[in-house]
Amino acid sequence: MPICGQENKRRIEALMKINEVFTVPYYYDEFACRCGDCRHTCCVGLDINISRDEYFRMMGMETSPELRDKLDLALKILPDPDPYRYACIAHDYHGDCRLLMPDGYCMLQRERGEDALSLVCRYFPRSPRFIVGPRAAMSLGCEETIYLLCDDRNYEYTSRELTFDLDVREDTDENIDTDYFSRIQGEIFECLGRRDISLSEKISIISQRFNAPSFTPEILEKFVELMSDVYEDLTDICLATLDNMEKGHGLEDVLGVMPDFDFYLSKMMINEVFYRQLPYLEGEVRASETAYIISAETTLLLQLINKCYESSMGEDGLIDMLARFFRFTNQTRFDHNIIAMRK
Ligand code: SF4
Repeated sequence: MPICGQENKRRIEALMKINEVFTVPYYYDEFACRCGDCRHTCCVGLDINISRDEYFRMMGMETSPELRDKLDLALKILPDPDPYRYACIAHDYHGDCRLLMPDGYCMLQRERGEDALSLVCRYFPRSPRFIVGPRAAMSLGCEETIYLLCDDRNYEYTSRELTFDLDVREDTDENIDTDYFSRIQGEIFECLGRRDISLSEKISIISQRFNAPSFTPEILEKFVELMSDVYEDLTDICLATLDNMEKGHGLEDVLGVMPDFDFYLSKMMINEVFYRQLPYLEGEVRASETAYIISAETTLLLQLINKCYESSMGEDGLIDMLARFFRFTNQTRFDHNIIAMRK
């Protein structure tokens, strides 16, 4: 059940159990939800869509009267439903899921157990993908994933036999040149994984190597404005960033406090490429546009990080901003939009 914004071909099926060997990032087994300690639970903010089967399964559950009242308001049928995108979680005035309890736990899960949750809620931040074979990526839209990447280990992959219940399975693209895909992705991973140069230098190398088109500050500004609309609590940071878009975007100030942060950020960008299955874009392997996306995304991120630092948001504030930023790049059609805006 990918929740990534990319519009890949999907098969709608009755609920099925997938048991396969997946390529996973090295920290996959270490993940454990922060539950009540999470500062930005997965259901906050952006819309989560569920399929028609899930909607009727959830609405037909036997529940306590209290849960029934909440559940009836928590799910809303979309204006133009199809079997895959049938309903969404309807947030309350504060942007929270109506099933979220004050202690940070989900009322549905507490009363009916994990199997009662929608598949997105059950698996997030894990995302089984199939475009180039089974891969289980982890979204950086979850703050625990970010914490897991903030250590000295190199970003590596391993294999795991995993089981997922899915009602929608992404199609493997039989036309994809998997050797070409792997070569491009491998080169990007190798460059981002280097320890002898900064993230900015890595991005320059990748941009030159793949002839990335240039982007304008106006394109980045548009995305900062969009982020500010989605996350009201980031509005100040976004506005301050917009004021200074032309200023440098090095990490010097941040690195003075967190010397290894540049390396952690490089690992996050590797995670982004893996999660979004880049350089696969809209049915093709596109190296140049992938380099453009990575370059624009990193530039945007560095600007926002500098502002977080200047605003003395502290480590938790920085992680919160990163989780929101990556939720934005993972759950909207960020790749598609940033390409479209250049044209
Ligand atoms: S964002 Fe991550 S840590 Fe927070 S509630 Fe969701 S899965 Fe758990």
